[in-house]
Amino acid sequence: MEMTSIWLDEIAADNYPSLDNDASADVAIVGAGIAGIATAYHLARAGAKPIVVEARTVAEAASGRNAGFLLAGVAENFAAATERYGEERALRVWRFTRHNQKLVREVVAREHIDCDLAWNGSAQLAGDDAEWAEVGTSAKRLEREGVRVRLIPEERAAIYEEDGELHPVKYVRGLARSAARSAARIFQGTHVTAVAPDGLRTQRGRVRSGAVVVCVNAYSQHLVALRIRPVRGQMLATAAVARRVFDRPAYANRGYRYWRQRADGRLLIGGWRDTAVDDEVGEEERTTARVQEQLEGFLRERAPEAAVTHRWAGIMGFSHDALPYAGRLAGGVFVNAGFTGHGMAFATATGELVADLVRGASRNETDLFTPERP
Ligand SMILES: Cc1cc2nc3c(=O)[nH]c(=O)nc-3n(C[C@H](O)[C@H](O)[C@H](O)COP(=O)(O)OP(=O)(O)OC[C@H]3O[C@@H](n4cnc5c(N)ncnc54)[C@H](O)[C@@H]3O)c2cc1C
Repeated sequence: MEMTSIWLDEIAADNYPSLDNDASADVAIVGAGIAGIATAYHLARAGAKPIVVEARTVAEAASGRNAGFLLAGVAENFAAATERYGEERALRVWRFTRHNQKLVREVVAREHIDCDLAWNGSAQLAGDDAEWAEVGTSAKRLEREGVRVRLIPEERAAIYEEDGELHPVKYVRGLARSAARSAARIFQGTHVTAVAPDGLRTQRGRVRSGAVVVCVNAYSQHLVALRIRPVRGQMLATAAVARRVFDRPAYANRGYRYWRQRADGRLLIGGWRDTAVDDEVGEEERTTARVQEQLEGFLRERAPEAAVTHRWAGIMGFSHDALPYAGRLAGGVFVNAGFTGHGMAFATATGELVADLVRGASRNETDLFTPERP
């Protein structure tokens, strides 16, 4: 039994050096998950020379431990999002995540990133009658926006035909290699201890830069004043199962439970945090019997024959209103964080947004994700 994610187990980390001296760069980025790497990629493509400083290895934290769903929208269904943000804002967020999907498609093609990207759609499954009513309302509203969605009442499911899935470690590490091939310099094994608008400090030296972007998501509170709290998510994976158990990635019970089957037949099941909300907080990256038993219970219902090969945990960064913080803090430091369990759905595009803002460009979405919003 591996206690690491299936993705990290399959792909060896690339060898980037540690940063042992002082350095200077156009932009200094802290963290090499999807948020930091996407920011570096877009900056390098625009001609800047960013430096990325990562404490562990590229994609070793949440970005290497997720389910690899590339969904449109936030964690909640669209009706719930409308209730929370108002319809106009909920629609803008929806369109932003559609843009994220388009960007991933383009970047993967342009950079020839082999990351098992597939567009099999996703199923949104209701856990009770109230949620089913919202799932139905969401589908009807989004259909008017031209979204390809159909309802399956007997399964209390909405099928969103345009959603995607990928191998998150292959994607983020592939994108890191593309960024490094242009002008980004990536350093691993180097802990950043302090940030300021004109640079950062590491354990061993200083980086001077024209701007700093903090992309450490769940770990933000150690470096900047951001309203992010660390929340744990757990998953398991199995050996290949010869039959199709799940047609497409599924997202159930308000996003608390999710599962998919990879093209190679392996099953992945994650979530069930709703059964242990009080426990599943903090930065401790460990599995618990309480949640793993729930994941396995569901597995036994659907595929009793499947052998569990991997169990793991990852730490997510939840924002105060479930939307990411992408922009400039009052003190002058930029941030790209707070994905609330949906970083694959947002961060390729928030990376582009923050790269534009760092370069002084204006963007329509600035107000949507400003870290200074109420
Ligand atoms: C079990 C699970 C399932 C998920 N499933 C999905 C999914 O299917 N779809 C989806 O969209 N999202 C999913 N998510 C959420 C997604 O993984 C995250 O939103 C996303 O990976 C966040 O990326 P990030 O780059 O902001 O953070 P991270 O990937 O956590 O990267 C932050 C990096 O910062 C580094 N760091 C921290 N502090 C410092 C420091 N002081 N100095 C230097 N480096 C530092 C860390 O080592 C880390 O590498 C899931 C998450 C979990 C845990």
